[in-house]
Amino acid sequence: PGHEEYTRNMVTGASTADLAIILIDSRQGILQQTRRHSYIASLLGIRHVVLAVNKIDLVDFQQQVYEEIVADYMAFAKELSFASIRPIPISARDGDNVISASANTPWYRGAALLEYLETVELDPTDQAKPFRFPVQMVMRPNADFRGYAGQISCGRISVGDPVVVAKTGQRTSVKAIVTYDGELATAGEGEAVTLVLSDEVDASRGNMLVAPGARPFVADQFQAHVIWFDANPMMPGRSYILRTETDSVSATVTTLKHQVNINSFIREAAKSLQMNEVGVCNISTQAPIAFDAYKDNRTTGNFIIVDRVTNATVGAGLIDFPLRRADNVHWHALEVNKSARSAMKNQLPAVLWFTGLSGSGKSTIANELDRILHAQGKHTYLLDGDNVRHGLNRDLGFTEEDRVENIRRVAEVAKLMADAGLIVLVSFISPFRDERRMARELMEEGEFIEIFVDTPLDECARRDPKGLYEKALAGKIANFTGVSSCYEAPENPELHIRTVGHQPTDLALAIEEFLDCRIGGQMTPLQRPT
Ligand code: ADP
Repeated sequence: PGHEEYTRNMVTGASTADLAIILIDSRQGILQQTRRHSYIASLLGIRHVVLAVNKIDLVDFQQQVYEEIVADYMAFAKELSFASIRPIPISARDGDNVISASANTPWYRGAALLEYLETVELDPTDQAKPFRFPVQMVMRPNADFRGYAGQISCGRISVGDPVVVAKTGQRTSVKAIVTYDGELATAGEGEAVTLVLSDEVDASRGNMLVAPGARPFVADQFQAHVIWFDANPMMPGRSYILRTETDSVSATVTTLKHQVNINSFIREAAKSLQMNEVGVCNISTQAPIAFDAYKDNRTTGNFIIVDRVTNATVGAGLIDFPLRRADNVHWHALEVNKSARSAMKNQLPAVLWFTGLSGSGKSTIANELDRILHAQGKHTYLLDGDNVRHGLNRDLGFTEEDRVENIRRVAEVAKLMADAGLIVLVSFISPFRDERRMARELMEEGEFIEIFVDTPLDECARRDPKGLYEKALAGKIANFTGVSSCYEAPENPELHIRTVGHQPTDLALAIEEFLDCRIGGQMTPLQRPT
């Protein structure tokens, strides 16, 4: 497989390995991927490395070449804190020093590769780890039996031992440990068992049963090292699926703190992570998850990142620590709440999200609609792309990363305004489906109304209200949507509006009608649209 594939397999498959074999081509010496894979191995907690200096036959079994490579590697790996590095000159093709010592390398006195692997002493597994049992399934074959099935990720458990449900803190004890081959008195790391508990507790898939004295973190924000695999870069603000051993939640990277240069290990500022890059991020999940720091527990401290649309694994992460903020900052449940505020305004809050090419007519139609609603006594606010870019988002440009962040902030502001009881009209090109989905997911069910203002590109270019197409087509504006940056048309908007041949006022009235019948004509307060 290619190197990307290799990195992906390494990270997702090797998190419990103790030893890595780093293969080096004697003719090429240490390459970028040698450094990358060594760095990732050390990040994964792999403590022992075999440096297999391969194709030694192709450099005529020269000791000097071998020693230079070994010296280079040792210098580089100094910072990686491996417990041992064992260099071996080999020829995988001819078998030199693979199974037994080769006569072609009389200058090498050490063990052959397999011999070494069979005799190497790895660190003894740490028996003292606290009990962790990620629940995979709740078994209820009949009304009398309820068991929690899964695999013990570390520690031991015996019948009678107390356990705690990680996410809720409920305490109970183990009544029975059931397996295919009957009941056990005790079970340990790696065993697949079904635990029957003494009390009824709330622990479904994604939760963990744990030792009361050493509970995992439960938080919705944490710092992690992320390794990115995908050709599409990782972007802060974009929504992904984060999967732990058993849990699966929506997650976004709130901050990319820095990326790590794998040649120098120096931290570098970055706005996105490209394929094969490693970065340190703050991640926020939609619901709290239970986890340990990766250094304490490799199984409960790692996760993968999955693309929402393609379902491909696009990254992997190792959790460093929870961000205390998640524990301490709760959304205040205020006395004067959203429904009280909207009831006073005699309306239901909504976010009308206008999306379309520049010049398609978003602002014109949104303005018209705003005027109509205002005349009806509705409380509205129009968030317009250009205006927001002058203030709140003036630090953002038009690169893909900045556009994602632009939309994230606008969506959060729209959410607050909807919470204040307003009908918010949002007029932004918002070219990417992912970001519009993210905005939708922020709002309450039925609150987000996506309005696709559909005008063909050549018509927009002909209208050119701000003279932007002329400049863009002359190559004077980088990343111009429709010209040098793509627009992903909505697939399932609540409203699809074709502007050609219609007056903006008529289109605004059509939206107003749609709103009206969605909300049952009367805009009854406190009633949710269906
Ligand atoms: P956007 O906000 O999408 O960038 P604007 O509303 O600023 O677009 O510009 C759209 C231009 O197209 C305006 O000059 C408007 O007068 C013109 N226009 C012509 N026909 C329509 C229509 N049916 N709907 C909206 N705008 C139209």
